[in-house]
Amino acid sequence: MNGLKVNLHITETCNYRCRHCFAHFDKRTDLPLKSWLAIIDNFKSSKIVSAINFAGGEPVFYRGFNELLRYAKESSFEVSLISNGSLLLDEKFFPAENFIYLSTLGISVDSLNENILLKLGRCDAKHNVLSENKLCELINTAKRINPSIKIKFNTVISQLNLHEHLTQIEQKIHIDRWKFLKVKAFDDNNFSNLDILVTDDEFSYFINRNKRSEGPAILEKSTARSYIVIDNQGNLLDNYNEQYEIVGNLLHESFAEVFSRYQFDRELYESRYIQTASEDRSF
Ligand code: SF4
Repeated sequence: MNGLKVNLHITETCNYRCRHCFAHFDKRTDLPLKSWLAIIDNFKSSKIVSAINFAGGEPVFYRGFNELLRYAKESSFEVSLISNGSLLLDEKFFPAENFIYLSTLGISVDSLNENILLKLGRCDAKHNVLSENKLCELINTAKRINPSIKIKFNTVISQLNLHEHLTQIEQKIHIDRWKFLKVKAFDDNNFSNLDILVTDDEFSYFINRNKRSEGPAILEKSTARSYIVIDNQGNLLDNYNEQYEIVGNLLHESFAEVFSRYQFDRELYESRYIQTASEDRSF
């Protein structure tokens, strides 16, 4: 198989407040750009990483994101981005030329209904949401600038969007890959989403109502030890049992050394990329 894909959660900053957000790593200050450039060099030296996915938070809020994106591409990595999409048509945050650097643009799409988006917290402080029209405009723009870009959607199923027929959007735009996840429970003093959890039967109900017209529905059951996540301090995290424990820091050790201590579930990792024979493994 090709080299590994790593997921860099470069910032926790986000303009949305999603009720299912798990991007909380407890260290708020982002690393400076030179540190991330060094980490990208670290991946390159390891010779076992071939793809970098930028995630967050909302990655475009990272200062220096455009330079980081370009550097990753120029370092010969396959580059992808997972974003809430809200600022990707805003030149201040994301110059349009950036689409050229991406092999895959991933967008989190949990609803096409503005009221539901507001209830989900998928809105900025002024209650602006990514409407269906804006979403289509974003995808059409990305494809116009980079015709070979792949489009991936991630959808989290909760009580709030359970009855939606999201896949009807495929009548308007082509989506290369679509991943569906069950909302994960969070409950602490400041934050609880226990009221929007869904059962396995409800999850199946959503999937059955949302048959895709153009491709398979990818059902993400577990990412435990099969998702290579680096937090915004440059730590490789072990997400076993839904806990995040630091394996090592990529500013202080080589990626190969840190990764050798990670009890990586290669079988589960690889299964994510071969659920269908026709899928492009680069996602
Ligand atoms: S858009 Fe993503 S990072 Fe931002 S709050 Fe929602 S899930 Fe979290």
